[in-house]
Amino acid sequence: MEKKFAELKKKLSEVSAINSAAAVLSWDQQVYMPSGGAEARAASTSALEELAHVKFTSDETGALIEGAYSWAQSLGEDSFEASYLRAAKRDYDKIKKLPSEFVGEFSRTVSAGIEAWTKARANSDFKAFAPHLQKILDLNLRKAEYLGYKASPYDALLDLYEPGATKAMLEPVFKKLADGLKPIIKEINARAGSVSNDIVKGDFDEDAQLALANEIVAALGYDLSRGRQDRSAHPFTTDFSVNDVRITTRTHRDYLPACVYGSIHECGHALYGQGTPQNFDFTPLAGGASLGMHESQSRFWENVVGRSLPFCRWLLPSLRKHFPGKFDKVNAEELFVAVNRSAPSLIRVESDEVNYNLHIMLRFEIETALLEGRLKVSDAPAFWNAKMQEYFGIKPAKDSEGILQDIHWAYGMIGYFPTYSLGNLISAQIAEKLTKDVPGWKELPERGEFAPILGWLRKHIHSQGRKYLPEQLLKRELGEGIRVEPFLDYIKSKYSRIYGF
Ligand code: MG
Repeated sequence: MEKKFAELKKKLSEVSAINSAAAVLSWDQQVYMPSGGAEARAASTSALEELAHVKFTSDETGALIEGAYSWAQSLGEDSFEASYLRAAKRDYDKIKKLPSEFVGEFSRTVSAGIEAWTKARANSDFKAFAPHLQKILDLNLRKAEYLGYKASPYDALLDLYEPGATKAMLEPVFKKLADGLKPIIKEINARAGSVSNDIVKGDFDEDAQLALANEIVAALGYDLSRGRQDRSAHPFTTDFSVNDVRITTRTHRDYLPACVYGSIHECGHALYGQGTPQNFDFTPLAGGASLGMHESQSRFWENVVGRSLPFCRWLLPSLRKHFPGKFDKVNAEELFVAVNRSAPSLIRVESDEVNYNLHIMLRFEIETALLEGRLKVSDAPAFWNAKMQEYFGIKPAKDSEGILQDIHWAYGMIGYFPTYSLGNLISAQIAEKLTKDVPGWKELPERGEFAPILGWLRKHIHSQGRKYLPEQLLKRELGEGIRVEPFLDYIKSKYSRIYGF
């Protein structure tokens, strides 16, 4: 049996090595590649992906998983071997359920979908994207049928991003979240003029922004000998290995937080990747428990730590150093207020942490309704706009600022959005647990002491990789499942202070 396990490990480490090479190509595409290289790059990437797919889905892999499974489980549920086999089996079973003709059709539909969406968004022309969206929905329904589900086809799709989560589980969570946020948003909007972020707007040298961003992520604990930070149009994190986890950031010359908080966000993801145990590298145990768990790490560092007053106290001298003269008359309290300004936004990615979850709710409501046939594609823009009015009191003047703003559906991803909100909720639950385990942790950032915080995350979250499903991991390490209250308490106490209500 041990021999079978060794064979399986060898095979799956080759699959990981191929996927890692494909990830390098994709990183290069977004960071350095000249636009002319797109076609050749697509050919190389898809050849590698196909190779990895064929290797992973072979009957031989299946036989090795089958052959070693009971032996591994007998070594104890938490053992490396048992966890390895559980993760490998989960991935294998899922991928085997999808016929290869279907995977091909899905991939072709998505390619056409992305192209159509790019044009449709540029022209703000939803009608041009609508037939593609319909096809993507139909294929996602078929995907759900292949994967199997109990209550809603949405569950099968959600499970791809947040294993174990269901629509029935999310609905009451989102309702409670929205009910808790609405009165807070009302209080904030009633005092809209009282908070300004003018001090972080202006003219900020872009090289200086990047230098600052590198200093910040290094201070947080990002190991630059096992990673690097570059620029890209949309910030992202990618793991080639435990020992090579890259991040990107962007700079807006006239708005400093885009770079600073974009970097901190991606750094949060990267700390998770760099915290994966060495022996998990190139195995199915590498990576995060789920997208929601991953997002909890990025949001925790970005918002809970990075937008706290102690962090602003620590950050201010660096701002003065990198942008001479600009912050001389600013104090930490003013910086704290400026980076936490809250206002309704049409655009999700520009939204602040108070309003953000309502953007997710809106997408959750629309995509479940579309998938379950309760809403027609042609009626979706009107539904979107009505919800914007209801939640934020604002309405997009055109679909490019409304239903066409996100790329996720064009990418074929239905069921992805909720993971962002789960990440926000978990980040606040982690903060609550930290207060019990590391008293006084909230003040540590003021002195640039991030190690005790990172140490806690390493021990309880990062070191577990993909050993457990997210809900299991939460129960083991935080002693509870998803909860809404810690996030609402966090938002309420922070924003009542800033806006004085
Ligand atoms: Mg993220």
